[in-house]
Amino acid sequence: MTRIQGVGASEGVAAGRAWVASAQPSPGMLRRVPPERAEEELGRLERAIEAAAAELEAIRQAASGRLGPGHLYILDLGRLLLKDEMLIGEARRRIREEGLNAEWAVQAAVDHFAHFFETLEDPYFRDRRLDIGHAGERILRHLAESPPGGAGREPEEPAILVARDLTPADVAALSGGKILGFVTDLGGHTSHTAIMAQALGIPAVVGTGDASRRVATGDRLLVDGGAGTVLLNPSDEAVSAYRASLRPRQEVLEEEKTPIQRPAVTRDGVRVTLLANIGNDQELSLLPVSGVDGVGLYRSEWLYFNRPDFPSEEEHYASYLRLAQAARPKPAIIRTLDLGGDRGFPPAARRGRLEEGEPNPALGVRGIRFSLERPDIFKRQLRAILRASAEGGVALVYPMVTSLEELRRARALLEEAKEELRGEGRLFNESIQQGVVVETPAAALCADHLARHADFLAVGTNDLIQYTLAMDRADKGVADRYESLHPSVVRLLHGVAQASRSAGVPAIVCGELAGDPKSALYLVGLGFRSLSMALSKAPAVRRAIRRSALAQLEELAGAMLECESAQEVRALTSRKGRGAGRGRPSVRPAV
Ligand code: PEP
Ligand code: MG
Repeated sequence: MTRIQGVGASEGVAAGRAWVASAQPSPGMLRRVPPERAEEELGRLERAIEAAAAELEAIRQAASGRLGPGHLYILDLGRLLLKDEMLIGEARRRIREEGLNAEWAVQAAVDHFAHFFETLEDPYFRDRRLDIGHAGERILRHLAESPPGGAGREPEEPAILVARDLTPADVAALSGGKILGFVTDLGGHTSHTAIMAQALGIPAVVGTGDASRRVATGDRLLVDGGAGTVLLNPSDEAVSAYRASLRPRQEVLEEEKTPIQRPAVTRDGVRVTLLANIGNDQELSLLPVSGVDGVGLYRSEWLYFNRPDFPSEEEHYASYLRLAQAARPKPAIIRTLDLGGDRGFPPAARRGRLEEGEPNPALGVRGIRFSLERPDIFKRQLRAILRASAEGGVALVYPMVTSLEELRRARALLEEAKEELRGEGRLFNESIQQGVVVETPAAALCADHLARHADFLAVGTNDLIQYTLAMDRADKGVADRYESLHPSVVRLLHGVAQASRSAGVPAIVCGELAGDPKSALYLVGLGFRSLSMALSKAPAVRRAIRRSALAQLEELAGAMLECESAQEVRALTSRKGRGAGRGRPSVRPAV
């Protein structure tokens, strides 16, 4: 008997004969496509994508009786990736510009993006490279015109499927048939293949490395999906011992078993809303699977870069519509343009009033200051945001506000934009929510005033720390003194939390601090109930919150307010946060 160790992906024990699936499709030989044949090759690619999407749709239909909406989304993700501009656009580009044949173009696009995900620290997000690989694999199958269904035909007798890799759709398609369990070489316990197996109650071990090469069709196998163990040709005694340990499968709602779908609730029942900071369109494809409660900060500046002119209203609108649709039915908060400061200005703005240069960009025309100086540019964006709000869930937030006057002027411009749209008979949300980014000491100290005139506050800790400590967030020379837990910062945050509570206006923390598990806990202790962070940070923050009790966190926050130095504050959070992260919170903004 040989023992193969992998990762337990879906609990349960299964014993039976192995059925080794045919090898995965490969891109085959590289063929160069001359420019005059590029259109033809692009046509092949499009047809394969269409066939792959139709195949996934058929699998989804067939599985819809067995899967709840919480898991059908995995199959929807597969279809979304087949339409993903980032992935498919890259494949198209390689055909057009590099003269690759469609198979190689798809493989090159998959490798390119999979490599990016591989470098991510969080295992959940690292496993998303598998989703991209699965999309590519499905297209390759159709380019090769190999039989659909992924793992090939089904075995004649009930068997344990052994494969190099399986896509979630393969698992969904096979689950209605004769598969007792499965074992794969690739994959991790947060892969969608694993989540699908859990949902369908199929015992599974993934990530074995080489099981598909060590096992032959017909071998006897015992799969323990809890322990991640596979016994190859076990004795009858070993099988009996395992059988004795078989328990009736619990009728547990699978949503409950999927960590990513668990809400961020403290042990004593306080719900914290986790939102995503989104910095470009490409991140949107991850939203439906991230388990976050919406988009807390959409940094719209990306639309302005790498172009000589300002984006048109239609360009803004197209992006915001994509955002609203990706987030729906959850909220999406769009920050109006925050140009200037460390992110500079696009050429079109530089040619204007700023051509003489600014002595200190961080203290110059930034964020709302620029928007109010250029209402023509600002209104395009406001109109587009309003139009996208017809989709529901869209809100907007003004950056770098330091006075009530600025908020009033921004609101007045929004009213003008509404009036124009009404005149044109366009739809929008009349009561769209308007927030203020609290990221200067001025705004933090007057948060009570701002809260009376805004629908919500969004605390931008990256800039709030920079301006409170007078230390450039992008300057390496002061990086070691950019103390996110400086007592002055703690006091300001406490004041904002209190102002929001007294005014009955929600406050979201959207700086890097919110994505650091230890700091997130102290923010909850200070009174914040909404945290917005990079998508990759959400799983660790969720875990930390679920392991804590609010009473303790409030005690921690109370003690922090007494601290006289950042070191003292840090010592406190480290004690509480042990296990939720290691060492000094790394909360300097990525610049
Ligand atoms: C912040 O300042 O904390 C923030 C969220 O915005 P940005 O990092 O984009 O300035
Ligand atoms: Mg900011």
